[in-house]
Amino acid sequence: MDCLFCKILDKEIPAEVIYEDDQAIAFRDINPQAPFHALVIPRRHIHSLNELQPDDRETVGHLVMVASKLAEEHGFAEQGYRTLFNCNSHGGQTVYHIHLHVLGGKPMGWPPY
Ligand code: IMP
Repeated sequence: MDCLFCKILDKEIPAEVIYEDDQAIAFRDINPQAPFHALVIPRRHIHSLNELQPDDRETVGHLVMVASKLAEEHGFAEQGYRTLFNCNSHGGQTVYHIHLHVLGGKPMGWPPY
């Protein structure tokens, strides 16, 4: 399967990995949109949020828990941060392996367009 993030998981493509466990890894976004910008991805390939199955509940919940842990560890939990999944073209998804963006270190704008 030709998936960029599976290649990062397989270490075929380098990435600055900042967290890993048996279900997920987190690495710094190559084109950061905030002082801290990381992507938390499941080890299992899931194309987009549209393909989620009931069995994926724990995995997706785990990604959010990792985001929360990163915010705490990197010192921006108290001030706040943004997490988001983009889904398909209108959502702005460009890599088709689900990933939770974690952005922190500055105030975020709203609405996001
Ligand atoms: P999406 O637009 O929500 O799919 O987000 C994909 C993200 O992956 C973008 O923020 C990109 O900057 C990021 N990205 C693309 N290629 C790489 C890479 O090789 N390493 C780290 N981040 C990447």
